[in-house]
Amino acid sequence: MSDCLFCAIVQGDIPADIILRTDRVIAFRDIEPKAPVHVLVIPVDHHPDVPSAALADPALGAELLQAAAHVAAAEGVAQSGYRVVANTGSDGGQSVHHAHLHVLGGRGLTWPPG
Ligand code: 5GP
Ligand code: ZN
Repeated sequence: MSDCLFCAIVQGDIPADIILRTDRVIAFRDIEPKAPVHVLVIPVDHHPDVPSAALADPALGAELLQAAAHVAAAEGVAQSGYRVVANTGSDGGQSVHHAHLHVLGGRGLTWPPG
């Protein structure tokens, strides 16, 4: 999709610190990390948000979560625990409208979020 930041990252037009890549999913470090581990997991194809991606392509929804688990293991937080977040829409705090999961860990995270 034109004018989409994460499509530009998928295409390599904007650099990113990519730590995992499959045919359908990539994971890269958030540019403004909110925790010691903060990785974004996104589908290669453009979908507006994670629930929409899962409705359009249920296997893709599973692949995004599987990638989150792989990222957590690779980043060393699978045992200590981590949070997987899909901010969705305006009240959900979504700022980039290409589906993405946040994988956050490496410190104790408060709940509920602000
Ligand atoms: P959202 O607020 O939509 O749930 O999350 C978007 C995330 O994308 C934010 O955490 C923000 O820091 C991150 N982000 C925004 N622009 C860039 C960028 O150019 N590169 C990377 N790696 N992350 C970005
Ligand atoms: Zn996109």
